[in-house]
Amino acid sequence: MSENKIALITGANKGIGYETAAQLAALGMTVVIGARDTQRREEAAKALRVQSVALDVTDPASAQSAAEQVEERFGRLDVLVNNAGITGGSYDPPSKIDLDIVRQVFETNYFGVIAVTNAMLPLLLRSPAPRIVNMSSTVGSLASMTDAESPLAAMPASATYPVSKTALNALTVQYAKEFAKDGILINAACPGYCDTDLTNHAGFRTAAQGAAIAVKLATLGADGPTGEFFDDNGRVAW
Ligand code: NDP
Repeated sequence: MSENKIALITGANKGIGYETAAQLAALGMTVVIGARDTQRREEAAKALRVQSVALDVTDPASAQSAAEQVEERFGRLDVLVNNAGITGGSYDPPSKIDLDIVRQVFETNYFGVIAVTNAMLPLLLRSPAPRIVNMSSTVGSLASMTDAESPLAAMPASATYPVSKTALNALTVQYAKEFAKDGILINAACPGYCDTDLTNHAGFRTAAQGAAIAVKLATLGADGPTGEFFDDNGRVAW
């Protein structure tokens, strides 16, 4: 078995996932990037000098096959970063939304996290110090949505991306409850508003800055928190 920690990052061929992979590899972890597009995955793995697996998070069979490959190569998994995410390209309000777009966004941002996490759990349970990081967003914070003083409360109403991250936050709490006895530390992270394709490069933080909180939560000590939500400034209200 490898002495190095083994880390899998989903959606890591670009953006924050790519930078998370780079930073975990720089810490000496054996990094595996998961990505759905073969060419982009191979190019990223080559540039980062890390391993890769084919992984479409919306396809449970793909998640299962990725888990089998991680098992064959390493026999266990220490860190899972559920980073893959989409906006669906629509910020229509709930009354105008196309349900198919809502379904697409939830397939990736919510159901995909369940599919990948459940496929990887048997491998994570073989780790002496398993960590799961779910890349969420403060736009999914119910506290911010309902706080008139928060700049997020002023965002246009949307039934897709923010709500998918609210669901992901709740899911994070439920997984953390289920696996607290097994020592898996499972937390949600907000990277801040980053300059990536997802934001059409409108964000003011670099993807590397956004990755830092994922790296911090992926490397928590045994006494670290679980079932919580963090950004660079500390705890984020649910
Ligand atoms: P990008 O759009 O730059 O990258 C998203 C990544 O997810 C890509 O590698 C993409 O792959 C991958 N992906 C999408 N769908 C799937 C799928 N079905 N299976 C596998 N991979 C998939 O986004 P960011 O780097 O900005 O975002 C990363 C995470 O951070 C997301 O969860 C996002 O919601 C979250 N976040 C980002 C913020 C920001 O300001 N950028 C703010 C708050 C949260 P492909 O190239 O194949 O499309």
